[in-house]
Amino acid sequence: MEANPPPSYPGQAQPVHVNVINVQPVAGHTVLIGQPVGTVPALVVCQYCRHQVITTIEKQATCRAHLWAIFLFLAGCWPCMCIPYCTKRCTNFDHYCPNCRAYIGRGD
Ligand SMILES: [Zn+2]
Repeated sequence: MEANPPPSYPGQAQPVHVNVINVQPVAGHTVLIGQPVGTVPALVVCQYCRHQVITTIEKQATCRAHLWAIFLFLAGCWPCMCIPYCTKRCTNFDHYCPNCRAYIGRGD
């Protein structure tokens, strides 16, 4: 008898990827170690409101994306002008505290 793989549940939610940033208590204060890295929300202790939160991300196109779009337009590839705005290398991922809306850091 063959072993069947476990059945998949199409309605089941996928787990959310979260970066966990190490925190270290120093002299009674919680200190944020490092900055959020990556393009996914990170679990951090906000240095402003002192709450442990999962950051919210706001994406913003960089100057590099605009330059590539202009280059593609001038090269005659105007249908491809939106491609630089869809790539991670041309996008900034700014992390904010969902509790106090403070800027926490920028992911690469
Ligand atoms: Zn906060």
